[in-house]
Amino acid sequence: MSIAHNLNALKKELPANVTLVAVSKTKPAAQVREAYDAGHRDFGENYVQELVQKHAELPADIRWHFIGHLQSNKVKFIAPFVYLIHGVESLKLLKEIAKQAVKNNRVIRVLLQLHVAKEETKFGLTFEECRELLAQADKENLQGVKISGLMAMASNTQDVAQVAREFRSVYDFSRELSRTRADMEILSYGMSGDYRLAVANGSNMVRIGSLIFGERL
Ligand SMILES: *Cc1c(COP(=O)(O)O)cnc(C)c1O
Repeated sequence: MSIAHNLNALKKELPANVTLVAVSKTKPAAQVREAYDAGHRDFGENYVQELVQKHAELPADIRWHFIGHLQSNKVKFIAPFVYLIHGVESLKLLKEIAKQAVKNNRVIRVLLQLHVAKEETKFGLTFEECRELLAQADKENLQGVKISGLMAMASNTQDVAQVAREFRSVYDFSRELSRTRADMEILSYGMSGDYRLAVANGSNMVRIGSLIFGERL
């Protein structure tokens, strides 16, 4: 199946309020171009160098999402153009994004990453750590950065009930936050294997790679 076909099938299926981020990591720029020519604009990348290179090669109106683990010392390379940074989990990184955004005369939107999966290895904050980080960020009154929602990954398991529970916990937490803060409306969870469960449990932004571009080697 072609990239355009895969994209159209997903767009037809997803509710209108759900943004589809096409995860193009490790795939050549020509394949991003194919998706772009089919009308797609939101793309997700995990590696700074790869993102910088694709940004230089591809049309300027692409909305580039950084979805990987971002090191503070690399923020400066993507700050001039990045559309949304999904995986923020420290005050240090928030401050660096704010600093580089101001340098570029921009406000950069970010999502805080939650850890809800069972696996030890996945990144992210507990709900309590997330509340603390929000409080710290408020105190710092950071210019240049806007915390716009939450990002999460579910456990890599066939246990559908477990995955649904994890997604639902993120949604419930977002409802809790929304009682005291506005502007936390983006909920980024769901990938090729679990996007339907994610959407059924409140996601409004899914990050899908292999279902669009094929398996990564
Ligand atoms: C690679 C990746 C995806 C997409 O994964 P697929 O299973 O190919 O859809 C989504 N989110 C993050 C954070 C990723 O690293």
